[in-house]
Amino acid sequence: PSFAPDWSLERPVTRWSDVGGQAYAKRVLQETLALLQGSAKALEARGFRLPRAILLYGPPGCSKTLLARAAAAESRLPMLMVRGPELFNKYVGESEKAVQRVFQRARAAAPSLLFFDEIDALATNRSRAASDGSTGAEERVLAQLLTELDGIDPLRDVVVLAATNRPDLLDEALLRPGRFDRLVYVALPETEEREHILAIHLGKVPLAMSMQTCGSDASTAAPATSRERLCAELAARTEGYSGAELAALVREACLLAMEENPANADCIQPYHLLEALQRVRPRTDPNLLRVY
Ligand code: ATP
Repeated sequence: PSFAPDWSLERPVTRWSDVGGQAYAKRVLQETLALLQGSAKALEARGFRLPRAILLYGPPGCSKTLLARAAAAESRLPMLMVRGPELFNKYVGESEKAVQRVFQRARAAAPSLLFFDEIDALATNRSRAASDGSTGAEERVLAQLLTELDGIDPLRDVVVLAATNRPDLLDEALLRPGRFDRLVYVALPETEEREHILAIHLGKVPLAMSMQTCGSDASTAAPATSRERLCAELAARTEGYSGAELAALVREACLLAMEENPANADCIQPYHLLEALQRVRPRTDPNLLRVY
């Protein structure tokens, strides 16, 4: 079968500033990419062991994919994004070949960034797969993935990132030195981070602090200070919300504004956001904690 259409290269435009909070994850990604693109050769010659691949793990909707896109865009690397379950299910019986093709494609585009989302679908713990009565396909895919990772030259080749919500399912072989040897926990946002995320998403919609100021210009409708106060107030009320849930909150407020006044469709008032709080509740499991 032809794999080409599924593994098309993206040229993401996400900036670091589009990702609210997550200072630690951003720093690790920035440092690692700078190292690989900059002084890596000299460092390796002096005996330093370079990081190979980075695993982002943590609860869903907390910006793992967004971070991968920003890493690619800010390093000017094309990105090949592969969703684990999709690769596995689409090419039944051929999944290991698909893994091989994915790496070939990334190498052909090198320097490039290869991002595996939901990598747990491709790298399930072997004993678990065996006890689930698997057909052996999981083992073959994992073996292929390990082989490809071992063959990556981090200097000239491909930067590999992956994300998972279920690090507990991963086979340990994947996390050995020389493979995913940088693990970054991407946590639910703290209050200040939520403020930042809300400011990002509210910055994209026309927000007014009263009907009188409701205008078409999103950036000037609400004065900056009241915007900040609103973000702070919402951040204080959204403990446990993921970034994706905060984005959903803003979307819901847009819908409420639209329902209320279809003629002046997209003008959001603070009370729309407060009402949206009742509709969008946090569902992210807070027990998905740091395991490494
Ligand atoms: P999953 O594990 O479900 O794949 P994820 O951790 O990869 O989730 P993303 O896909 O990056 O999460 O986030 C989903 C959406 O939520 C983003 O496209 C963005 O709109 C919003 N979002 C999440 N985190 C942030 C953040 N820190 N700053 C701004 N927006 C965010």
